[in-house]
Amino acid sequence: MARYTGPACKLCRREGEKLFLKGARCFSPQCAMERRTYPPGEHGRMSGHAGRQSDYSRQLRAKQKGKRIYGVLERQFRRNFNEARRRPGLTGLNLLQILETRFDNIVFRAGFAESRSHARQMISHGHFILNDRRNDIPSTNLKPGDRFAVREASKQTEFFKVLRQSDPVRNAPAWIEANLENLSGRVIRLPERAEIDGNLNEQLIVEYYSR
Ligand code: SF4
Repeated sequence: MARYTGPACKLCRREGEKLFLKGARCFSPQCAMERRTYPPGEHGRMSGHAGRQSDYSRQLRAKQKGKRIYGVLERQFRRNFNEARRRPGLTGLNLLQILETRFDNIVFRAGFAESRSHARQMISHGHFILNDRRNDIPSTNLKPGDRFAVREASKQTEFFKVLRQSDPVRNAPAWIEANLENLSGRVIRLPERAEIDGNLNEQLIVEYYSR
């Protein structure tokens, strides 16, 4: 599956807020949002983020932010939206649940990776198993009851050795059970709205696709 390969920090600068796409760097003074808060591009410094936004512009920005946080390109994001619309219940919440239950997001949320893109890379490189079978597709949607783990051979890599010995950087949310000692976990249930952070406005995303 294709993915965005350009500079991640530009995406934060465009949205005017930290999207936490780069792990530890995002919490350091090296973060581009600490140094250049204006949008990227030749006229970024002049235009800024201020000013009146049209409804369309707010909807577009909400949609772009969602795509960027989860590292999903337009075609797949729209596919996720169509799936959310088909499911019973609130389309916006369904969409967030689809994005949250992506394999790469769950590995990240469980604390086994520094960022979603790091999780995505490790999954694609075959370091993870899902329900006892190797799975190298980061976009796989997990269901309640699904079990995931780092492959036995991969536990010997430097990153996982350090991770097992360190205190958890981030506690897993209540809907994911994560065991840092043996690098395994389980999806307990779907996340509730309050458990999904990222300052996303799913209603604006629904409005964008319903125009
Ligand atoms: Fe965004 Fe992280 Fe880059 Fe800061 S370091 S601009 S939060 S991706």
